[in-house]
Amino acid sequence: GEDRRTLIAGNWKMNLTHLEAIGLVQKLAFSVPEAVLDTAEVVVLPPFTALRSVQTLVTGDKLPVGYGAQDLSVHDSGAYTGEVSGGMLAALACQYVTVGHSERRAMHHEDDAVVAAKAQAALRHGIVPIVCVGEGLDVRRAGEHVAFCTSQLDASLEGLTAEQIGGGGPDGAPIVIAYEPVWAIGTGEVATPEDAQEVCGALRARLAERFGPETAASVRILYGGSVKAASTAGILAGPDIDGALVGGASLDADEFAQICRIAA
Ligand code: PEP
Repeated sequence: GEDRRTLIAGNWKMNLTHLEAIGLVQKLAFSVPEAVLDTAEVVVLPPFTALRSVQTLVTGDKLPVGYGAQDLSVHDSGAYTGEVSGGMLAALACQYVTVGHSERRAMHHEDDAVVAAKAQAALRHGIVPIVCVGEGLDVRRAGEHVAFCTSQLDASLEGLTAEQIGGGGPDGAPIVIAYEPVWAIGTGEVATPEDAQEVCGALRARLAERFGPETAASVRILYGGSVKAASTAGILAGPDIDGALVGGASLDADEFAQICRIAA
């Protein structure tokens, strides 16, 4: 949509060792035509254990692929066994980090307050949080998906100021929103283009109410949930949809490269 640069982000979830990660990124760099990068940004989100290898490969070979992490701690350092801080991710030159993915909300009981704190932690370290929201099947069936997602967005961005996300750079605001209906994640049941646009449009309208129309226009909003090459063009046709967060299909270099080609 508008002047926003398309973003295709591959969420690898808990897949691939660092050696396998190197293989996939090399294959991707080979499969995504250089011209794609003029209009689209391609990013991979490996597990923590692969980030250093991906960084070395991407910077060493100057590959036109960005990378980031799938989660971070709300804290910057200290006695938080097993956690990884925004500062650690920034030291690995991560550009992005997903926060509030539905799998973390469901399996790790992350509520909106935690998600908002994680978004703030990312911003403190100059990392763009990809803030995920999305309704479950029960909410969708009750027809309450728009109200649910806009209020989840509000609560997930609690405390965020227009100053923090205003201004923008060539790639827009330093925050990305991902609409990921839970019923579409990993199910093979992609939302229709109309359903995806309905919610993404409502999310942008909510951002405009809260932060002003200019800032809202600079925030990229992604759709995620069973995106494949075959569904990419339809989804990205939505005027408020600026890219895709791709799970399963991002582990297949050919399929992911095809999604990137279609998105460009
Ligand atoms: C995701 O987990 O962010 C996702 C969109 O997964 P999938 O594409 O596999 O539905």
